[in-house]
Formats: sequence, structure tokens, C-alpha cells
Amino acid sequence: MKEKAPRIGIMGGTFDPVHYGHLVTAEGARCVYKLDQVFFLPTGRPPHKSMKEVSDAEHRYMMTVLATLTNPHFEVSRLDIDREGVSYTIDTLRILRDFYGPEAELFFITGADAIFEITDWKDSDEYLTIAHFIAAARPGFALEELPKATQDWVDKHADRFHVLNVPAMAISSTEIRQRVKNGMSIRYLVPEPVEHYIRRNKLYL
Ligand code: ATP
Ligand code: MG
Repeated sequence: MKEKAPRIGIMGGTFDPVHYGHLVTAEGARCVYKLDQVFFLPTGRPPHKSMKEVSDAEHRYMMTVLATLTNPHFEVSRLDIDREGVSYTIDTLRILRDFYGPEAELFFITGADAIFEITDWKDSDEYLTIAHFIAAARPGFALEELPKATQDWVDKHADRFHVLNVPAMAISSTEIRQRVKNGMSIRYLVPEPVEHYIRRNKLYL
């Protein structure tokens, strides 16, 4: 019998640090779209963030591993971290498509905020030809009110663009970094091992 084509979720991010918003979104996408596996891909050098303001990739990688350890469907990939230069999502998607072959269904998972910037991304026209897009609702970003160019982008391959309602989580890495800096608690915003890792390595102070 022919094996079922794999359904692979890809959750890219800076993950500085990874938090429950990311985890809830990935798990929601996995369940709704029946994904076999979700890969977390910490970015190497994000195109839109200068290196000075982003923690070392190895720290971000370690925290993502710690956060995903207990979910057998979650995996962390070093693909972007180990690649030289700036990481563009399109290049990552092309590599994954070549790796998994044309049979596999790829699902790129993002928060709603990323969709608002999508038309600025490199070769954004190609995205929906390679992968499905799952946009998770995120407080403050109304997917019903997309700018015209973005709506056109969606409409071109509407069957491959999906909106996922996750329990609204107003958590962001920015907020967590700020809290650490200000001596506030981050308990219950990130998994406990991630909090320990942040404290032990004196991150975000
Ligand atoms: P920062 O504040 O540093 O930008 P972030 O919280 O937005 O961090 P990223 O690493 O930039 O986290 O995001 C990775 C992916 O996860 C993006 O697609 C982003 O939209 C999504 N995401 C982040 N936080 C949430 C959340 N609370 N709910 C749903 N999606 C989220
Ligand atoms: Mg972000």
C-alpha cells in the first residue's frame, strides 16, 4: 500500500525567547490540520532584525529545544541557524520542499502579524505555491482587514491560506524580554525550563 504523504508543519521564528503563544499555536495547527510533525525553525540572521538586538542563535535554539521536549510531535531544526547569511523564509521553504519531495504537504505556520508584512518578504509570490499558510489569530491583528496587496496575495491561492483560531494569547517575546529587564515575573508565560535557562544565562538583563 502507498504510504500516506507526510503533512509537515513549519513554525519559523526568532524565538527570543520561545513562549506559550508559539507553543499553543503550533499545537493548535497540528491538531486542526492533522500534521504529523511540527518543526520549529529558529532563524539564523532574521532579515528584519539586526544582530545586535537578537540573542545568540545557540541560546534561542536551546530554549526552543527545552520548550518542545515533552511534545513527541514537535522537533527543532537547525536548518536556518547553520545556514550562512540572512535567512529568508522562501529559501527555507525551497530547501524543505526539495527534502520532502513534491508529495509532502507543507504548512507554514505564522501569527497574524506576519501576514501583514508578507508582501514585503522576498519572492512572496512563490510562497503559496510551495506551502499552505496557517495564520493564527493574534490580538491586535485583524485578518478581516488586510491591506489590498495582502488580500490579493491571499486571493491568488485562497485554498492554501487558512486562518486558525487559537486561544488569544497576547504574549510576545518583546514583552517577556521587557519583563525580565524590569525584574517582573515571566512565570506561566514561558515553560519552566525556559525560565530557568533565561535566569541561568542572565539573558535580557
Ligand atoms: P518579538 O516580540 O520578538 O517579535 P514574537 O513573540 O512575535 O517575538 P517571533 O519569534 O517573532 O515571536 O514569532 C514567531 C512566530 O510566532 C511568528 O509567526 C509570530 O507571528 C508567531 N507568534 C508569536 N507570538 C504569538 C502569539 N502570542 N500567538 C500567535 N502567534 C504568535
Ligand atoms: Mg515577532
